[in-house]
Amino acid sequence: PVNRLAKVQEARLRLPILAEEQQVMETINENPIVIVAGATGSGKTTQLPQFLYEAGYAQHKMIGVTEPRRVAAIAMSKRVAHEMNLSEREVSYLIRFEGNVSPATRIKFMTDGVLMKEIESDFLLNKYSVIILDEAHERSIYTDILVGLLSRIVPLRHKRGSPLKLIVMSATLRVSDFTENTRLFKQPPPLINVECRQYPVTIHFQKRTPEDYVAEAYRKALKIHNQLPEGGILIFVTGQQEVNLLVRKLRRCFPYRQQQEQQQQDEQQDEQLEDVAEENFDMKRVIRNIRKSKKKFLAQMELPKINLDDYKLPGDDTEADMHEQAEEDHSDDEEELDALSAGEELEGVSELSSGPKQPLWVLPLYSLLSSEKQNRIFQPVPEGCRLCVVSTNVAETSLTIPHIKYVVDSGRQKTRLYDKLTGVSAFVVTYTSKASAEQRAGRAGRISAGHCYRLYSSAVYEHQFMEFGLPDIQQKPVDDLMLQMRSMGIDRVVHFPFPTPPDQLQLQAAEQRLTVLGALKATPSDAKDLPPAMTPLGRVISRFPVAPRFGKMLALSHQQGLLPYTVCLVAALSVQEVLQETGVQRTEDVAPKANKFHEKRQRWAASGNFQLLGDPMVLLRAVGAAEYAGSRGQLPEFCATNGLRQKAISEVRKLRVQLTNEINLNVSGVQLSVDPQLKPPSDAQARFLRQILLAGMGDRVARKVPLSEITDKEERRRLKYAYNTPDMVDPAFLHASSVLKQKTPEWIIYQEAYELRNGDSEKMFLRGITAIE
Ligand code: ADP
Ligand code: MG
Repeated sequence: PVNRLAKVQEARLRLPILAEEQQVMETINENPIVIVAGATGSGKTTQLPQFLYEAGYAQHKMIGVTEPRRVAAIAMSKRVAHEMNLSEREVSYLIRFEGNVSPATRIKFMTDGVLMKEIESDFLLNKYSVIILDEAHERSIYTDILVGLLSRIVPLRHKRGSPLKLIVMSATLRVSDFTENTRLFKQPPPLINVECRQYPVTIHFQKRTPEDYVAEAYRKALKIHNQLPEGGILIFVTGQQEVNLLVRKLRRCFPYRQQQEQQQQDEQQDEQLEDVAEENFDMKRVIRNIRKSKKKFLAQMELPKINLDDYKLPGDDTEADMHEQAEEDHSDDEEELDALSAGEELEGVSELSSGPKQPLWVLPLYSLLSSEKQNRIFQPVPEGCRLCVVSTNVAETSLTIPHIKYVVDSGRQKTRLYDKLTGVSAFVVTYTSKASAEQRAGRAGRISAGHCYRLYSSAVYEHQFMEFGLPDIQQKPVDDLMLQMRSMGIDRVVHFPFPTPPDQLQLQAAEQRLTVLGALKATPSDAKDLPPAMTPLGRVISRFPVAPRFGKMLALSHQQGLLPYTVCLVAALSVQEVLQETGVQRTEDVAPKANKFHEKRQRWAASGNFQLLGDPMVLLRAVGAAEYAGSRGQLPEFCATNGLRQKAISEVRKLRVQLTNEINLNVSGVQLSVDPQLKPPSDAQARFLRQILLAGMGDRVARKVPLSEITDKEERRRLKYAYNTPDMVDPAFLHASSVLKQKTPEWIIYQEAYELRNGDSEKMFLRGITAIE
């Protein structure tokens, strides 16, 4: 029996899925596998676990719910606990670095990567009576794999007399990859479609597609607020930086007094914690970046060579996305909207903002935002304010924001594009799919008829938007996935029942990289049809929750007291952007503020064994020094003055703890602890560490361009810092941030190669340099 508060019960009863509880539960009781589709906001995620709980599914075993995004796992567990009037020990969550699961947990929300890991140690998932795979339409890699695995686990559990139910939930009806794939489910599972009232949404395209969509979004929001009747505004942009920039500008424009202090506090915090970027964040730069990425996208993904090591780890959140419905271009219902129809030049913004009557309640939303701050979108808007949420595509389907009537859609998203074969990747801003655009528009029609302002033209929409986004598994490298599957005993990954299989070449490329790494053993020529066998090293590597090459570095470190250093180094290398100037959107000129840090970094590296480890030494010292400052309660100041990202430092720490535990559990005779005051390695240790780096990064070796062979003086100057690498035609250059730039050693290994553009010229740079002798 669940004791809900009257207010909660009242809100629940308004959700479309409540009307179908009986039918939904009957179908689930009678079928082992069920697919539930229903528009975003119909109540799937918050209500279905409750139905199951009330039907007794949590009595002996747990109800497990997976989410592709960490944000959703946390937010939904909290919401369901609240609705059911249960504690967070009973309705809990688990994501890669944290959770509140307890022995009392009955309903467990987790990221799909976490469940994947659990299957490795308990293939039949015996702790669970039901698994709900939520947001299956997003087609994240792990959700896809889980569907495949569970299609086999469910019948096995049935045979053992302890049945497991599988519920696949989707925000769209586009589920044929699941229902019509007979390799996956011999018998197509029943599909329940939750009918959901959706009010009409009028779509407004721009006449032209502005490059600077952030500025355009700002103008649009001002206009809506100044000229249109009440109703919340939801703005979609591509990333955290854009979100924060817009939030700041809008708050400044329409301040809300009582909360101003709070807002200012937030801003200061954000400014401190985030990037040097804000200061140097001019629109021109944004435009340049977008132009750059667009060109790239149009040029059929000509990818620069960038690191594959920090790509998705198990349990990481994604910024994936998708679908729903839309209306006509410029429909006849023009009522209040004339003023907004796009295309006309905008009056000066100051003019517009001169006489705002009503304060705007502006809230940011993105995955890395703390959960209290995320939760503000659900709290009541202060008297007399209009709600305005600026979000990444998290708000597309994962979280339903109440009271939205106007959607401003930039039509873009940030994605990491991969070269399938080399694993080389780059962050780019691309157009979303038509399905995503419709889903975003749909957010405006939940409470009444709404409006969606698309910051792009209908021609761009028609010709440049894909119908649907591709499943992740068809666009990302599958190395660690393959290793994980192999360690589960799935030898013929080719035969795995994928909802949509990755292409053969991609699988082969991953297999080859793993063989070079020593995780798989090359097949003898007389057994060509056998898959390469997993080596003992491969088995060890697969236990670590980091990219395979880092797993290998850990596996090799059981000597000379190296493990604490390798753990620290691997953790630092696995977390993005510990040191600030290496931002994702790198520009040619390293920010002045970041330059200021350069000297400090030189000093960090210069401790005797400077030449031995180079840039990785800087990372080690930075993490060590930050930990020390943290132990004295001075982390924020320390990070600010030394150009470290505080959030990254705390992730590095969590990863260190996790890796250390893993090692203590799995390596006999080792009892490590995470030493906050890790001393710099000795010379001998540094030399060994270099060997280990080389073992993991053997394919990232570069050699200095032989200057003595070049006669032309000008050319010699140009190539002073140039290196040749095995898989790039043109030489790449040492980046100004490298502490080895002055030394220019003959042979080096590098962590990452990336491309920078300046106008029309582009140049490859190498980062994270270690010299080899
Ligand atoms: P679906 O999964 O079908 O998209 P949800 O179950 O996530 O739908 O949401 C159902 C409703 O619950 C939505 O109207 C949403 O706004 C509301 N809701 C979700 N979380 C909260 C919260 N923390 N506070 C208030 N309302 C919430
Ligand atoms: Mg949901």
